[in-house]
Amino acid sequence: METPNSSSQNGPERGHDATSDEWTVEKAADLYGVRDWGGGYFGVTPEGTVAVHPNGDPTKGIDLHAVVTGLAARDLNAPIVLRFPGILEHRMSALRTAFDGAIEELEYDGPYSGLYPIKVNQERHVCEAIRDLGGRLGFGLEVGSKPELLAGLALTEGMNGMPLVCNGFKDKEYVETVIITAKMGRNIIPVAEQAHEVRLITASARLHDVTPHFGIRAKLAAPGLGRWAGSSGFRSKFGLTVGEILHAVEYLEREEMLDGLKMLHCHMGSQVFDIRAVKYMVAELAHLYVELVRRGAPLDTLDIGGGLGIDYDGSSSATESSINYSLDQYAADVVHRIKSICDEAGVAHPQIMSESGRALVAHSSVLVCEVLGTRTFPAEPDMALVQRALDEESPTQPLLDAYDAYLTRDSGDLFEVYADAEHALAEATNLFNLGYMSIYARAACEELYWSIGRTMLDRRGDDLPEELENLPDRLADIYFLNLSVFQSLLDSWGIDQLFPIMPIHRLSEEPARRGVLADITCDSDGRIERFAGGDSHKSTLELHSHGQAGDSTDPYYVGVFLTGAYQEALGDLHNLLGDTHAVHVELADNGRWRIDHVVEGETIRDVLAHVQYDTEDIRRRIRSDIEASIEANRITIDEGKALRRFLDDSLQGYTYLE
Ligand code: PLP
Repeated sequence: METPNSSSQNGPERGHDATSDEWTVEKAADLYGVRDWGGGYFGVTPEGTVAVHPNGDPTKGIDLHAVVTGLAARDLNAPIVLRFPGILEHRMSALRTAFDGAIEELEYDGPYSGLYPIKVNQERHVCEAIRDLGGRLGFGLEVGSKPELLAGLALTEGMNGMPLVCNGFKDKEYVETVIITAKMGRNIIPVAEQAHEVRLITASARLHDVTPHFGIRAKLAAPGLGRWAGSSGFRSKFGLTVGEILHAVEYLEREEMLDGLKMLHCHMGSQVFDIRAVKYMVAELAHLYVELVRRGAPLDTLDIGGGLGIDYDGSSSATESSINYSLDQYAADVVHRIKSICDEAGVAHPQIMSESGRALVAHSSVLVCEVLGTRTFPAEPDMALVQRALDEESPTQPLLDAYDAYLTRDSGDLFEVYADAEHALAEATNLFNLGYMSIYARAACEELYWSIGRTMLDRRGDDLPEELENLPDRLADIYFLNLSVFQSLLDSWGIDQLFPIMPIHRLSEEPARRGVLADITCDSDGRIERFAGGDSHKSTLELHSHGQAGDSTDPYYVGVFLTGAYQEALGDLHNLLGDTHAVHVELADNGRWRIDHVVEGETIRDVLAHVQYDTEDIRRRIRSDIEASIEANRITIDEGKALRRFLDDSLQGYTYLE
């Protein structure tokens, strides 16, 4: 299936006069910081839409808005996840190249192998793409639970040489499955996360008469960093302490199983934002490695786990939403540390493995949502309402004060006028709560205050005194998105993670409004109020006017970027809003875009089944209620028919608003 792209896919040319007042797509690219966080995969077209450059080549691109409208024409409506396998391939190649380059430059003797931890995005099509590319690029997979193990085994069927590293807590059954598959000839490596798992591996290997290769995860002293700091350090729930590792080695020696101990593993937590922490952790791991080799352990592999971060806010800084290093620097530092410590100890260079998940998949998915409507605070109050309040018998003082303030907004000192309106609103709320003000007067005071606040913002938005700094937040528009934050952006809610967000079209038009985003769940937490940009992020996002009188009725789409890691795997069913559609989009040879796979989102029937509702039972019950209502003349036959039709259609339908 092919659809023509827009005429030009190139990013906007740099070199426009940035000081000119004229709005340009170049200014839009700067405003949303797309070049800073986009990693070369995203840009803005001269037509004012977002371009996706799957191969990082700015001359070859896919027009994101054209894809979204093309999919809508096929009844695949937003919210929708667009996955770009081309970006995935580019990320994997970049990681491969970074390590191979460092190995060559530093004359390191061991190889590098990447492992994709499937927990980061277990979707089958994503894993299959990585598996296929991994076959070419020398990557393997990492699994961390029994279900993931089964998925990993199925994914690597017929690929005996592909490494499959098995982390996570293990029981006898888990270990036995791994040991038997090792006997089948698979390159499968269980990693003992707890001291007793060493015994489980040994017992199972003995039972099945095989000496598998296995690893031990070390509990390092190096503290983790940021949100996932607890994955490392003495208080981490994972790994063996140095003492436990020494005991394990003695035990394996006694059991004549030491030959199988090949890998030393660690994981210092995800999104490690400071390269100094990486160097520190790798140094500790490498020292442990050389000491164990000297002690007689036949280790040949160091697995440094995940943690390679990405720059969500584009600031290139050692802060939680960013990183202060490049992929090349990461690889060079890892290789350099391991080499120098091994050389000093006279120990052969081990194979290096890393379990980078976030850094491989985050860029490859974009979530696109449609704005359903907006809530704005207009500059003009509802004068009919105000007049009605003023016409009441003996209007209260706060109402008269607010009205006075409103009348002088064009002639008086605007800051004073605003202060009066704010005071009047506070008084009005008190009076209303004490039962001394009518509902009309209260509503009128709010209208007048909002209108003065909005006027102030429109006229003096860039020049507000300190005490009014939060005025833009108080009066920001709310843009309602057809989306569940809990299903599609769980980390935004759960750990306050920042994702880059911007409109995917209308970028040749200056965004005149500032807003926050709210989803359609019945949960006040279902909102996004932190955006990339500014010194310490922005509390509102620049958006185009939508849904106001005179606005186009065309859909307005917003893209949430860098969502490929963890979001799909973690999403939940809050309000029973289910998985969104996901579509894999490729850049075709002829420069057009092409749909590769479509994974349809969950239907209402699917999500009800998740929570043990029998949809046939639901149909039966509602139909019987309809019949009873027709019989009792509460509704007509036609109304009953309409309701039945809605019932049948919606059970098959998308869980989002259509
Ligand atoms: N390896 C292990 C053991 C993990 O627990 C994780 C994630 O938490 C990863 C790798 C992936 O980490 P990242 O996504 O930061 O690369």
